[in-house]
Amino acid sequence: MALEEKREKRPAVTPMMIEEDAALRNGSRGLPPGPWAEAAGPRPRTTERHIAVHKRLVLGFAVSILALLAVTMIAVLLSVRFEECGAAADGPPRAGGNGSLSGAARQPPGAGQTPGRPEKEEEARGREAAAEEEEEEEEWQRRRELPPWARPRLPRHLRPLHYNLMLSAFMENFTFSGEVNVQLEVRNASRYIVLHAHRMHIEAVRVAEDKLAGGVRVARSFLYPQTQVFVVVLNRSLEVQRSYNLKILYNALIENELLGFFRSSYVLHGERRFLGVTQFSPTHARKAFPCFDEPIYKATFKISIRHQATYLSLSNMPVETSVFEEDGWVTDHFSQTPLMSTYYLAWAVCNFTYRETVTRSGVVVRLYARPDAIRRGSGDYALNITRRLIEFYEDYFKVPYSLPKLDLLAVPKHPYAAMENWGLSVFVEQRILLDPSISSISYLLDVTMVIVHELCHQWFGDLVTPVWWEDVWLKEGFAHYFEFVGTDYLYPGWNMEKQRFLTDVLHEVMLLDGLASSHPVSQEVQQATDIDRVFDWIAYKKGAALIRMLANFMGHSVFQMGLQDYLTIHKYGNAARNDLWNTLSKALKRVGKSVNIQEVMDQWTLQMGYPVITILGNETTDNVIVISQERFVYDSDAKPKDPALGDNSYLWQIPLTIAVGNTSHISSEAIIWVSNKSERHRIPALEEASWLLGNINQTGYFRVNYDIRNWRLLINQLTRNHKVISVSNRAGLVDDAFNLARAGYLPQNIPLEIIRYLSEEKDFLPWHAASRALYPLDKLLDRTENYNIFNEYILRQVASMYLKLGWPTNNLNKSLVQASYQHEELRREVIMLACSFGNKHCHQQAATLISDWISSNRNRIPLNVRDIVYCTGVSLMDEDVWEFIWMKFHSTTAVSEKKILLEALTCSDDRNLLNRLLNLSLNSEVVLDQDAIDVIIHVARNPHGRDLAWKFFREKWKILNARYGEALFMNSKLISGVTEFLNTEEELRELKNFIKSYEEGAAASFSRAVETVEANVRWQRLYKEELFQWLRKSLTH
Ligand SMILES: [Zn+2]
Repeated sequence: MALEEKREKRPAVTPMMIEEDAALRNGSRGLPPGPWAEAAGPRPRTTERHIAVHKRLVLGFAVSILALLAVTMIAVLLSVRFEECGAAADGPPRAGGNGSLSGAARQPPGAGQTPGRPEKEEEARGREAAAEEEEEEEEWQRRRELPPWARPRLPRHLRPLHYNLMLSAFMENFTFSGEVNVQLEVRNASRYIVLHAHRMHIEAVRVAEDKLAGGVRVARSFLYPQTQVFVVVLNRSLEVQRSYNLKILYNALIENELLGFFRSSYVLHGERRFLGVTQFSPTHARKAFPCFDEPIYKATFKISIRHQATYLSLSNMPVETSVFEEDGWVTDHFSQTPLMSTYYLAWAVCNFTYRETVTRSGVVVRLYARPDAIRRGSGDYALNITRRLIEFYEDYFKVPYSLPKLDLLAVPKHPYAAMENWGLSVFVEQRILLDPSISSISYLLDVTMVIVHELCHQWFGDLVTPVWWEDVWLKEGFAHYFEFVGTDYLYPGWNMEKQRFLTDVLHEVMLLDGLASSHPVSQEVQQATDIDRVFDWIAYKKGAALIRMLANFMGHSVFQMGLQDYLTIHKYGNAARNDLWNTLSKALKRVGKSVNIQEVMDQWTLQMGYPVITILGNETTDNVIVISQERFVYDSDAKPKDPALGDNSYLWQIPLTIAVGNTSHISSEAIIWVSNKSERHRIPALEEASWLLGNINQTGYFRVNYDIRNWRLLINQLTRNHKVISVSNRAGLVDDAFNLARAGYLPQNIPLEIIRYLSEEKDFLPWHAASRALYPLDKLLDRTENYNIFNEYILRQVASMYLKLGWPTNNLNKSLVQASYQHEELRREVIMLACSFGNKHCHQQAATLISDWISSNRNRIPLNVRDIVYCTGVSLMDEDVWEFIWMKFHSTTAVSEKKILLEALTCSDDRNLLNRLLNLSLNSEVVLDQDAIDVIIHVARNPHGRDLAWKFFREKWKILNARYGEALFMNSKLISGVTEFLNTEEELRELKNFIKSYEEGAAASFSRAVETVEANVRWQRLYKEELFQWLRKSLTH
């Protein structure tokens, strides 16, 4: 599953910060910190149209209720007759409490109106059942056990072997009905069947022993919403080793929210068209059919979907047969799936069209999208790289793709960027449709990486599935890591895994994981409502960074062999992290190396945070250096969450690579395993003027610090000939230095001295790293009175490269894909820094471009720098420009353009305009719900608006929490976005007071926020003056 990226683009620094199109782009290329961490995506809410649809539904519902009342009254009048007839009509015994179902089951319109039992009897049975239930609950209480349905996990006595699922989709009123037959294996005798079912109306349930006639009588059955299960209580126990068939008839809504089986729409030739599609991961299959909705319960599935013939239906497998009915309906019967979990099962009912291609091994790949997009060829890029990527993965993993086909479905709305359903992967349109002639490099990169990610899941996730959600990082970490490996396969010159991985994954997640309130990458969860929480940037990015470290210390070819074994051994099954460690250890052993991978990796996956290694070499006389480790935290005063884990107890086994260099040469690296608090190691050839460099190419998940003398030697080296040190280490030195200084491990001047060499740096990556590392520092300083000293210093470092590179011309955009991505991205980065820090030429250029647009009404601003120009224009120019951008925001239909226009509006210096924008942001008619969060966050990043956004957030918290509270990701993104740059004592007090009065359900986000603000305040108190003093001295020289 790919999360909607909060892609902060670079440190668009002060007066105007510009941000990239967060919703459009995936991958973490982009702005600095900020919780990618808050995984999961926006769940857009009701729009105007949806309200209209909703009204129609409500009306329909009211009519059906009236009809139901009428039927019931007649039934009551006739009740005597019915009772005389004896046994209830046909169908299974209707359990009491079931038919008229508990509050949780919402009865969809037009459904569930099977002739009911006479009301009196229902009532009587209801009372009877309630009494039984009470008795049963008491019995469990006496045994001091939770009843099987009240436990957070399903009881283990049953296992589903096969599901037959028959669905009818009624797109005209957005309901569906289903019949599921589950073949069950009994492991332990029990009277209870407990499986997941949520937000549906159960009509009937029947249990039969396989191969024998005659059912097993159902005593009662009920939905239990607290744990989202459906419970069947039988009159007698199911017997061990026998298999039974459970049949359930049910119906539900095709929801208007974006989980389970849900609907969305698009307009074609002026006409609105609807489609139904599913999103089951992680715990929403239970909203679409009763099932054992935990990844360990792999089973085979045979699905049939009945729908109007004007639609087509899709599922994981190809259609085997279609049966047409005379009334314009058709039933598609899909082939049986291999063993699989419920969360990546999928189906869709739509009237899309497609294009297709076939891989060398015969897999049919189709891209389905709205007909106009298919006609324009917007899906061709995705289709083409998908074919090549399947071939890449089949070759890399040495395991063929498992299904006969793979459909990629481009939908208008989806809660995540994409979802890897086996054989039917679903993407939000902006992450898969692409027109090469008008797409920027980053857009192309985003589309590419999302596809690489989902395809990796066809193996990591779908074929081999984590046992439980605590190890979701096993699949997400791999898919995220392979985004870079797979993109390198498609674009070999881009060096994604060696370079871009550092800024976008490693540096970014170390910001989050450097908080004392972080959490381990492997985190225990039980409750369904908590499972969303594990899909966060720690799982994705730290997971990927740990996997990359592992691949590097194992050696890439041994690592690859190990993965091939792992997939072969566990295919169609589940695996936990220890299964992976064991397989990889064996692969290492085969090449004669012995490392206990489980022992090493447990320290990295079960402990939160990461170490900072300190290498002391200056006092040695005999080539001996001292290496020590401690946990890195931004605020050393912050208390660890678990007091038993005082920082002293944190130790890692660290694969440290070290090289020794002098002015013209660097030695080959050597691995040193560091496992103690402090160790002495002998280094050959350590001469007087030699420097030491640790973590070669930044393959390790840790920071490295040195004695000051060594830092000076490194700075000297960078200034004299930076190419002796690799590009990735140059970026790494920049990032480590800034963050070590921010946390107080290093004097404040060291990072500022390092970036002086940038005037000679022609590679993108070190600039990108510097730009991102400067961002939080800029935010700490942007409201201080001496800010201009800092500003001037940065401008000096940027000026010469800005002059050298100049601005892109517009016609370049046509060939961006072919153009050197390094060069264009570097130019963009430097322009952004120049404009953000107030380079006069940059400002003039932006103003000229905006004026030209306004006067000619033709937008000739180069695509790759549009966001920078808009933001700069709004912040510098008068209110008319703001109004002009506001008007363009309303009139444009291109999603990516809309987003950067909206963000540009937050760049204004005018507090009235900022307030106006904040207030407008809560109006769903003007700003989409998921975009409102970005507006508030961006105003908070603007030094002129930070206090306004903070005040607005507190005043509107009730509304905001009601809107986003259920979507954990949105809520924590908002909380951290508004608070992360607060840095005064007063603001810290306000934050704490606010939390005291309002904390509701977002405790983790709030404790992260407090820790971040405390660290900011602490930095101001301890280090701000030191920094300014050095800057003053430096500028007068
Ligand atoms: Zn994923």
